[in-house]
Amino acid sequence: MEVEESSPSSSSLSSPAGSSDSIDLNFLPFLKREPKSEPASPERGPLPLPAPPAQTPQQQRHAAAAAPAAFAPPPPATPDLSSAPVMTPLQALPPNPDEDALLREYYRLASLYLSSAGPGAIVPAPAPAATAPSVVQPGSGSVVKKRRPRSSELVRVSSLGVRDQIYFRDLVRRARITFECLRGLLLRDDERAESLGLAGVNGYGGGGDRRRVRADLRAAALMADHDLWLNRDRRIVGPMPGISVGDAFFFRMELCVLGLHGQVQAGIDYVTAGKSASGEPIATSIIVSGGYEDDDDHGDVLVYTGHGGRDPNLHKHCVDQKLEGGNLALERSMAYGIEIRVIRGVKSRRSPVGKVYFYDGLYKVVDYWLDRGKSGFGVYKYKMLRIEGQEPMGTVNYRIAEQLKVDVFAVRPTGYLSFDISMGRELLPVALYNDFDNDRDPLLFEYLARPIFPTSAVQGKFAEGGGGCDCAESCSIGCNCAGRNGGEFAYDKTGALLRGKPLVYECGPYCRCPPSCPNRVSQKGLQHRLEVFRSRETGWGVRSLDLIKAGTFICEFSGIVLTQQQSEIVAANGDCLVRPNRFPPRWLDWGDISDVNPEYVAPDYPTLPELNFAIDVSRARNVACYFSHSCSPNVFVQFVLFDHYNASYPHLMIFAMENIPPLRELSIDYGMVDEWVGQLTM
Ligand SMILES: [Zn+2]
Ligand SMILES: [Zn+2]
Repeated sequence: MEVEESSPSSSSLSSPAGSSDSIDLNFLPFLKREPKSEPASPERGPLPLPAPPAQTPQQQRHAAAAAPAAFAPPPPATPDLSSAPVMTPLQALPPNPDEDALLREYYRLASLYLSSAGPGAIVPAPAPAATAPSVVQPGSGSVVKKRRPRSSELVRVSSLGVRDQIYFRDLVRRARITFECLRGLLLRDDERAESLGLAGVNGYGGGGDRRRVRADLRAAALMADHDLWLNRDRRIVGPMPGISVGDAFFFRMELCVLGLHGQVQAGIDYVTAGKSASGEPIATSIIVSGGYEDDDDHGDVLVYTGHGGRDPNLHKHCVDQKLEGGNLALERSMAYGIEIRVIRGVKSRRSPVGKVYFYDGLYKVVDYWLDRGKSGFGVYKYKMLRIEGQEPMGTVNYRIAEQLKVDVFAVRPTGYLSFDISMGRELLPVALYNDFDNDRDPLLFEYLARPIFPTSAVQGKFAEGGGGCDCAESCSIGCNCAGRNGGEFAYDKTGALLRGKPLVYECGPYCRCPPSCPNRVSQKGLQHRLEVFRSRETGWGVRSLDLIKAGTFICEFSGIVLTQQQSEIVAANGDCLVRPNRFPPRWLDWGDISDVNPEYVAPDYPTLPELNFAIDVSRARNVACYFSHSCSPNVFVQFVLFDHYNASYPHLMIFAMENIPPLRELSIDYGMVDEWVGQLTM
């Protein structure tokens, strides 16, 4: 990997570069190798302490809004649970505060939440000395210390080898898993506290109503306190290691956590003049949310409106914009040919906040001018062109996938071999598409949506261990099935897996609870539109037309289940056998919050016995058999029981390990690459 440092220097100012049409990512208008001393700047100072109780809520909100744009971690948590008065501004917020109000509160809450984490909280505030995590950059050998301020050092990361790409992808995935799992656990804690009537008790509600602070903000705050925000030691220009064009995010805070876009509210992220070596602001990323009347977005060509000039409350223009701050930064980035990361926010029903953010890749500012906006006031406009040769935009794939669900021929007139290889056996159709060669192989197999277990394995095993539960309505913590899972359910109320376990017991046919019970998830079958397709890289593969949220169920791995004895006979024939014990325990990663909570222990209950069965997929199979192998996968296997209780023969249920955008290939870690992997994927 090469990391090139760059910072505007006075000598380069007279020769702005980057006027060619296709940008060379390795080209650097300015080179500076010696370490820079950080310029003293008020923006680098510590976060203002929570406003004293004497202030009015209004004043406190104002103070919070004036917090530095670059996130500085909260002051050391000094738990003082008696200091209830500082929570007043929270209580003063309207019952349904809008997003802006919440975000303005964010910095203060980052510290307040920590002091409210008492004994029943899922992540107790740990002793600072014991928790400094090690974020080791490859090659550097250095351990990054706790609580770094955001750096002003501009670097461009280029020419990453395959191993480095996997390394950074795993690093990013781990941060995203920590974020998402913390968020899920915090939400569950809130629900528990509420159901127990503890919502207003210190340690749960922190003296106020903690539910009013969104769990994504709290998860990000916890990660900041443990120095888990990525890329804070330098400001990355251009591509972000570990983040692919097309990646999808449900929360803006996640973009901050990863360093993809470091502004909680502002659309333009930039290194401020005070922190830039040249004394000029430099823009690095923008968010296009479609909320501004003067934006003009044609995908590859984008006319972006600068910031400022708007009434902070009404979001209407009331004065002319000025060429300062982010506006000047965009102009300077144009002058230096610095590429801008573009993230687009689009509305989505599948998002908990109604919106999803796609990273659409790098753009170059090619022109800017002062224009008269629709409001009649002056606005700065920036014409930006997408740099060629990048992966397709996430927003474009999203749109294509939505169209495919409505009218396939409008998008792809040829290439379909079947609109549903499951012949109605799955809840949703599974299309077969090949516009690459003449292979029609998947049509030759019987489609088996559910595995067939050997009678000897499941007969008489239904009532083992006390049978199902007697819950007349929705199951809760006391029910028999919760007990089987160690006293807690594996899923949140949206059906997302909270954390991976050796084995998950869902409610089944011997439970009295209704089909709507939240402990029935994977048994319901496909919830996303999948498609088997052919490609040069991976042979047959699977992709989704839907955006799949991390932690959600995708499909089961199906085939004819064989006992160990049977499998030995079949293996001798050279048939395709999948051995469940060879899937690495990737479920361990899903839910691992040990970076934030050092006392976190991986679940070892419910226990899973050694699995000796095999699945024969040589005659009958389902869509899961076409998943490609990857050692940096985006899905994983979770063993589940629901229709029988023989733990030696669990179902192989496949869940998403990260948000999987539409049309991205699904990949799984098959563990030992066996002959059958080759057979299946070719
Ligand atoms: Zn129950
Ligand atoms: Zn049950």
